[in-house]
Amino acid sequence: MTFEYAPAPESRAIVDIKSKYGHFIDGKFLPGKKHFATINPATEEVLSQISLGGASDVDKAVAAAQKAYTKTWSKLSGKERGKYLYRIARILQERAREFAVLETLDNGKPIRETRDIDIPLVAAHFFYHAGWADKLDYAGLGKSPTPHGVAGQIIPWNFPLLMLAWKVAPALATGNTVVLKPAETTSLTALLFAEVCQQAELPDGVVNIVTGDGSTGAAIVNHPGIHKIAFTGSTEVGKKIARAISGTNKKATLELGGKGANIVFDDAPIDETVEGIVNGIFFNQGHVCCAGSRLILQEGIADELIAKLKIRMSKIRVGDPLDKNTDLGAINSREQLSKIQELATAGDAEGAERWSPACTLSAKGFWFAPTIFTGVTQAHRIAREEIFGPVLSVLTFRTPQEAIEKANNTPFGLSAGVWSEKGSRILWATQQLRAGVIWANTFNKFDPASPFGGYKESGWGREGGKHGLAAYLKEGK
Ligand code: ADP
Repeated sequence: MTFEYAPAPESRAIVDIKSKYGHFIDGKFLPGKKHFATINPATEEVLSQISLGGASDVDKAVAAAQKAYTKTWSKLSGKERGKYLYRIARILQERAREFAVLETLDNGKPIRETRDIDIPLVAAHFFYHAGWADKLDYAGLGKSPTPHGVAGQIIPWNFPLLMLAWKVAPALATGNTVVLKPAETTSLTALLFAEVCQQAELPDGVVNIVTGDGSTGAAIVNHPGIHKIAFTGSTEVGKKIARAISGTNKKATLELGGKGANIVFDDAPIDETVEGIVNGIFFNQGHVCCAGSRLILQEGIADELIAKLKIRMSKIRVGDPLDKNTDLGAINSREQLSKIQELATAGDAEGAERWSPACTLSAKGFWFAPTIFTGVTQAHRIAREEIFGPVLSVLTFRTPQEAIEKANNTPFGLSAGVWSEKGSRILWATQQLRAGVIWANTFNKFDPASPFGGYKESGWGREGGKHGLAAYLKEGK
């Protein structure tokens, strides 16, 4: 049976976007000098003008963060810091719809995801870390571990507010102050978060937000007043940061790219697996570093599973991200769309077979239909490089050992998935897989208590859970 869906757009009246934004430094919004436009990727409508931060803005922000660290934040007890985090978490919950609509407008991801996943997880991160603030002496990091001081935090555009929460919540809980830079295409929710900091009466300078591009990020990385760097983004920029801080005392966590393997054994429950595969690659338009972008299928069930997957993909609704029935929204930028197109064209040229369901894509904005490539070999670019879009590469295997070899044959090591009815097979496979996060019979499940991070070119360190706290603390005696 096919359902017809009438449009069900979420109202955007709840958000109040200013025509121009400055930086948030020392508790106040300061005007920027140069600006660039931020657009809605679903319509190409200009939403606002964002300041391009330069070295002097970064200087001011670091000075404010250092002053706040020395004068207030490092003097407060963990219990007092925790109260601010709880307050921020509750305000985020109260203003959840506003944040969800703004994130959808600026990023292009469906309202169903911002409303039900991104923003609830953001609040959960603040609640979780609020609980840790007065218990750090008991986190297994020695007696009275101490913060680093000022943390420089640089985040990407795929989960703008969620990545902010992953960075800001543990930094504040552990007693650090922060200078954060959102990605150039998605600064709006970080700037709204600055208002939440004011509303929560967070002491001035504890959170500073400087907007801008890669040069602004580099100014933060290279600033001598920054003691710890937390970065999420591409492996290419991660390597630049690693080079820039070598020989300094700066600590760093780097969350970089991935090419996650989703392994399906022939005893897997097919219908549930199909749902998991769809969630693994089409969630957030595939703009997910831990996406299950390589499906590694046991040969005996390949035809049946691919046939069911295609039927399921035909039901994915692509379109207006503000529509509550939309499953797949807009690609975040023209630049990202070109990268996806380039890699998909390479898939065609190298001999893989492309398939997408029929769907009408709007002429305005940036769109890419959900796509699978079958007949992919390990040598193909679409099996090796991160596409960061709604594109699944399908490889097959005969023996469990071959599945593991194919899954591990990648420079990355962020995530993997295993689908099987046998617990022993799942445990065996997870022990062989070289990936920081491995899901069994599910995919893309996140929780603030669960550490996240990768091996090899997927980065350094972990975020979330007790492991994530350690990155913001010097071990106590
Ligand atoms: P993506 O491929 O997801 O756009 P990037 O690694 O290019 O990832 O961007 C992630 C974040 O890193 C963004 O906030 C971007 O502005 C910032 N950035 C880009 N280049 C640099 C750099 N050389 N140093 C520090 N930050 C940078």
